[in-house]
Amino acid sequence: MSSRDLDVAATLRNRLPGGLVVTDPDVVASYARDQSRFTESGLPLAVLMPRSTAEVALCMKTLHELGVAVVARGAGSGLSGAANADAGSAVLSLHRMDEILELDVADRIAVVQPGVITSTLRAAAEEAGLFYPPDPGSVEQCTVGGNAATNAGGMCCVKYGVTGDFVIGLEIVLADGRVMRTGRRTVKGVAGYDLVRLFVGSEGTLGVITEITVRLVPAPAPRHTLVASFATLRAAGEVVSDITGAGLTPSLLEILDRTTVQAVDQLARMGLGDEVAALLLIQGDDRDAATLLDRVERVCGERGAVDVARSADPAEADQLLEARRLALPALERLGDWLLDDVAVPRSRIVDLIAAVEEISQRLGIVIGVFGHAGDGNLHPTVIFDAADPESTTTARAAFDEMTRAALELGGTVTGEHGVGRLKREWLARELDPTALAVHAAIKSALDPYGRLNPGAVLEISNRD
Ligand SMILES: Cc1cc2nc3c(=O)[nH]c(=O)nc-3n(C[C@H](O)[C@H](O)[C@H](O)COP(=O)(O)OP(=O)(O)OC[C@H]3O[C@@H](n4cnc5c(N)ncnc54)[C@H](O)[C@@H]3O)c2cc1C
Repeated sequence: MSSRDLDVAATLRNRLPGGLVVTDPDVVASYARDQSRFTESGLPLAVLMPRSTAEVALCMKTLHELGVAVVARGAGSGLSGAANADAGSAVLSLHRMDEILELDVADRIAVVQPGVITSTLRAAAEEAGLFYPPDPGSVEQCTVGGNAATNAGGMCCVKYGVTGDFVIGLEIVLADGRVMRTGRRTVKGVAGYDLVRLFVGSEGTLGVITEITVRLVPAPAPRHTLVASFATLRAAGEVVSDITGAGLTPSLLEILDRTTVQAVDQLARMGLGDEVAALLLIQGDDRDAATLLDRVERVCGERGAVDVARSADPAEADQLLEARRLALPALERLGDWLLDDVAVPRSRIVDLIAAVEEISQRLGIVIGVFGHAGDGNLHPTVIFDAADPESTTTARAAFDEMTRAALELGGTVTGEHGVGRLKREWLARELDPTALAVHAAIKSALDPYGRLNPGAVLEISNRD
């Protein structure tokens, strides 16, 4: 750490309340990165751990006065390097702000601090007879603040939408420490620009979220689950297109390819079957879920499903979903991994699958495919050997080719994980020059000195 960093850390310790500034080298190092690969990071000079909005405001004001860059952090479960620190920056961890402040059954809203773990909010809503749908695969570790800042998706999106569809109000601490409230707690409300939408998905580059008001929905009916296996990945993709094309709305529609199924089986011994080339997991949570799954089962049959199993038992359903949640941890065990996150219009999912298969075969590299097929959002995961330069180069090439393929199919370079540091160059390819200039203008208005998470989303040089 440079002498300038040591001086700034000492100043922060002097000026901020006791216990708020952490400079223990091991702790600081553990806050330097999220869970992404191939993203740059540096050692922060300190980790700030505020307990209230007032403390966040004080931290931000102090950092502003000292001219120090700051990276807000939830649980660090991100996969795009969005929460990575830069050398000499401060990390602002919101994990101590973990209270559910209000859960109003009549208004069907919850007001939470940003460090609330997503599964905790879901459990609290369930206890109150309501439902908070957003359920990223990391639901047991990620925070509602991190979800709002990345506009996280999950398995529910095919029916319910993403985190942003549930966030209706925010409290934000701006770059200079001013506190702003925006949004509402009413069902409707159109006063002013929709700043909630602007901050949702802004990845800590526009302000720090210190309170989130989310809407809740009535508890769903007991879920019915169907699992179908296929002899080819493409046949499974065709079923996905058929289901959405027929106007059917399952509450979950996930896909796992052969590599992923076998990896999950090796990890959890679920008996998923060696001969399976692709697995679809499909759920319905309406009162007529059984009828929905009847129709889905017919579609699977028409597309030559090898096997179809159904269950109305919640425990069995949870077990099957566990297979999907284990996809990434299981693939991690096969070697080094580089996970992509691309989305295409639902009608193009078969083309995306074909493109990934072609890239995998041509480059001779293993790519495990899993994801939220019902949203057209896949996470093709390249398995490689980081110790072998050639393998690493091929992995990067496969990643780039898959991302390009998604764009060419009318899709997007990131369906849910965000731009972070991993896809910064790709954002510039997806947006037109005018849209990119508007992004830069908004960033400049809210963060004129470029100190909020400067390495993420946009290529913007520090303006000090
Ligand atoms: C196993 C696994 C499965 C996953 N599955 C999914 C999935 O299904 N869907 C999905 O969308 N993602 C998924 N993710 C990625 C990740 O969990 C999400 O991006 C999640 O929203 C990050 O939350 P976090 O609290 O860990 O935020 P962090 O990783 O700490 O931060 C993410 C970004 O949000 C910013 N940020 C965090 N808190 C605040 C705040 N209070 N104010 C302002 N900015 C803030 C950070 O600066 C950073 O830019 C998965 C990750 C893993 C490891």
